[in-house]
Amino acid sequence: MSTIDSVARKYRGLYLTAIAQELEQMLEQAETQAASYLHFAEMLIEQELQLRNGKRIEQNQRRSCFPVYKSLDEFDYVFQNTISKREVNSLLDFGFIDNRENVVFIGSPGVGKTHLAIGLGLKAIESGYKVCFSTALSLIEALELAELKGELKKKINQLLKFDLLIIDELGYLPMNKQGMHNLFQLINAMYEYRSIILTTNKEFTHWGEFFFDGNVAVPIVDRIIHHSHIFMLGRESYRLKSKLNN
Ligand code: ADP
Ligand code: MG
Repeated sequence: MSTIDSVARKYRGLYLTAIAQELEQMLEQAETQAASYLHFAEMLIEQELQLRNGKRIEQNQRRSCFPVYKSLDEFDYVFQNTISKREVNSLLDFGFIDNRENVVFIGSPGVGKTHLAIGLGLKAIESGYKVCFSTALSLIEALELAELKGELKKKINQLLKFDLLIIDELGYLPMNKQGMHNLFQLINAMYEYRSIILTTNKEFTHWGEFFFDGNVAVPIVDRIIHHSHIFMLGRESYRLKSKLNN
């Protein structure tokens, strides 16, 4: 004669942990609701899927390497009125990731570029996408290290496993020739295949300044801005605002 425990053990044996854990409670619920057999079958599997989904999201959050968590709900569109909540919300169906498009935030320091990029990245993870955050500097360092080990292709392929790559703060420091070449390899591999959110303090016309060679800036910019949503953020620094209010 089967008991709840013995049935639960069988579920656990097949790694259906959520069903095993909640079996007793779900049986009671099904009885109270006089649920149909089909509905009960669905309740069981939904329970398992929900747990697995939650775990996957947690794992993707850990792998995304965000330096801090910033939520879009905390973003003050009254202060930063050069971008609207509607414009940001329109990105939240993540059509831009499905269509392999890019998002670019351009503006001087402190206007909220990184905040928006992280906020969007976190929402993308909640929606099931894999996201990788990196500053431009550490990305270029990682590519350089891989290149020295003869593993540039492998590193790029690793990055291509993410649906969305956030490259933060491109343009704060100049790049050497090899760094630029490696970055071009990555951008080229991602072009029309994966999405990028890029933040930069420089307008495209000035990109030649931090790329060692203006001629290489052109094909990189070209691939990033083709199929992209570009937001120019104005206003003064939010950091300064907080300072002045204190
Ligand atoms: P940027 O990347 O453009 O230099 P950040 O996104 O790092 O600027 O913003 C600097 C700080 O100010 C962060 O702590 C960020 O959370 C905050 N911040 C910037 N803009 C806003 C805003 N409009 N609403 C709320 N916080 C903001
Ligand atoms: Mg920033």
